[in-house]
Amino acid sequence: MSFLKHVLLLATAALAPLAFAQTASLDFTRCIEGLRGDARAARVQDEAFTRFTQGLMPDMSVIEKLDYQPEFRLPIWDYLSALVDDERVAAGQTQMAQHADTLSRVAERFGVDPATVVAVWGVESNFGQNFGQYPLVQALGTLSCHGRRQAYFRSEFYSALRILQAGHIAPERLVGSWAGAFGHTQFMPSTFERLAVDFDGDGRRDLMDNTADALASTANFLKKAGWQDGQPWGFEVKLPEDFNASGEGRRTKRPMSEWVGRGLVRVDGSPLPADLGSAGLMLPAGPQGPAFLVFRNFDAIYSYNAAESYGLAIAHLSDRLRGGSPFVTPWPTDDAGLSRAERRELQGLLILRGHDIGEVDGALGEKSRAAIRVEQQRLGQDPNGRGGQKLLRALRAEAPTPQAVPEPAPVAEPAPEPAPAPDFNPASPPSR
Ligand code: CA
Repeated sequence: MSFLKHVLLLATAALAPLAFAQTASLDFTRCIEGLRGDARAARVQDEAFTRFTQGLMPDMSVIEKLDYQPEFRLPIWDYLSALVDDERVAAGQTQMAQHADTLSRVAERFGVDPATVVAVWGVESNFGQNFGQYPLVQALGTLSCHGRRQAYFRSEFYSALRILQAGHIAPERLVGSWAGAFGHTQFMPSTFERLAVDFDGDGRRDLMDNTADALASTANFLKKAGWQDGQPWGFEVKLPEDFNASGEGRRTKRPMSEWVGRGLVRVDGSPLPADLGSAGLMLPAGPQGPAFLVFRNFDAIYSYNAAESYGLAIAHLSDRLRGGSPFVTPWPTDDAGLSRAERRELQGLLILRGHDIGEVDGALGEKSRAAIRVEQQRLGQDPNGRGGQKLLRALRAEAPTPQAVPEPAPVAEPAPEPAPAPDFNPASPPSR
């Protein structure tokens, strides 16, 4: 091959991906431009459409998120042990004290109590600390032109443009989850338009930088979802021996007298209160795990993200914020989940074992799970990549420096069958 020909071939090879990228971005620009008419019909002015979409490039990582299939479904005890841990309870109580005045005015106007509002805030954005990093117009623009559910995301895209057009939030501040939920309360843009509240009266509904607007908007959401002031979300109960739970669930509401008749008592053994409305029996991990009677207010919380595990996290955190105790009945597992502090400890131990797990952040991401699998294999445990108490204990025992004495983990009899997975699905965009 001549030198010149070789150089030309190299140049062509180098240019090919660039040309492909240019075509892809040209296609994207064309797609976005093609939405202008529909956007106009959806009350986005031409000038605003141009201003907010100029030079927009796709971010294909959101399509990967959309198509992501979790390798295994998180057991509910893992999900809850990280969302409702001592750290989050303490942080939530601090926030309740700090925003006591706003929260009491919110409770007065919307009839939703401070602990419930703060629990939603804690689960949604860790009290405003985790909003997501995706510029919303870019993420929703990409989801409008690629992948599944484009019609749904287009309507959210127009909604986001209308929010910017109305000046509620500055364009550079409008960042959120890959699926378009944003701010303290992680509202989708259409939810923002329906339910966000300007509580401090400055003329803007600002869920990014205004805590009063955010807390009031959360309360308004719950109120519109049917929240009943002064009613509980539910409580843990004890089932009698040989209870037949088939056909029971959150939606199958029965009067309290019927539950009394079937032998249910509160988990401390005291009788069920007679003065409450109908309730459904929720068994998030099957009849061997904790059981709950849930009322209308649980459904209001549920509508925030359409997952029972999610609803239970908020409901339980609200109880803990009021000084309530952890669940009495243990989860049906011999390998309970880890709090965020324990996850960080596990990550530290993985680093000591020479693994590159990235940042110690208490979130067991792909790198951590890969390291966990290696260690599980080495220790003769099931190499499923899940970080639980068993692995933490085994690695603690081997660690060269003495570790803090661990709290004994609640240990239950192994479940006769694998517990049913919760309906939590991190791959689904939020429904709110
Ligand atoms: Ca405001």
